[in-house]
Amino acid sequence: MRLLLVEDDAMIGEAIRTGLKRDGFTVDWVHDGESADQVLRTDAFDLLLLDLGLPRKGGFQVLQALRARQQTLPVLIITARDAVADRVQGLDAGADDYLVKPFDLDELAARIRALLRRKSGRTEPEIEHLGVALNPATHRVTRDGREVALSPKEFALLQLLMERPGNILSRAQIEERLYGWGEEVESNAVEVHIHGLRRKLGTDFILNVRGVGYRVRPAQ
Ligand code: CA
Repeated sequence: MRLLLVEDDAMIGEAIRTGLKRDGFTVDWVHDGESADQVLRTDAFDLLLLDLGLPRKGGFQVLQALRARQQTLPVLIITARDAVADRVQGLDAGADDYLVKPFDLDELAARIRALLRRKSGRTEPEIEHLGVALNPATHRVTRDGREVALSPKEFALLQLLMERPGNILSRAQIEERLYGWGEEVESNAVEVHIHGLRRKLGTDFILNVRGVGYRVRPAQ
């Protein structure tokens, strides 16, 4: 899952980025509102972590512009402002949740998972499909009850495909969601991860739709 972090405080931003990467998220980071506004128009993210007090353009403005463009991605406000009025204003402007700094990184990761779960319409914390179960919180994957060991990128790719079984994702779409800016991507990286997943989960679970992309076998 790819997140955009908008935070002008270098220390806080670095701590959040490091913590969330360790939790398996792909995190891209911009330091001001204007840059956030720009990349939100061009890049695909699964969730936005938005500070309110930002240089060049405030967090509220970024949020209002995002919703005015009909972009539906979940927004979690992270702010030092603990005034009730700010939180109310943020939620009313289209944010989905907020955390007041300083906060615990485990709580942040759990709230992100909850928002992503809600976005995909799931009620259960585990994603389960055709005998394969994936837990975004514990990073555990099982097939028919037996644990399957995956690399972090294999896990992220499997989650992406399992969020909407039957939905076809192109290689470019997968690359965009799996790799942040500045991450070295080998030209055949997606194929390599797909190959690894098919080897570990069986070749009938992930299907290659020739010329289009990949998907999880739909339930019949
Ligand atoms: Ca700030």
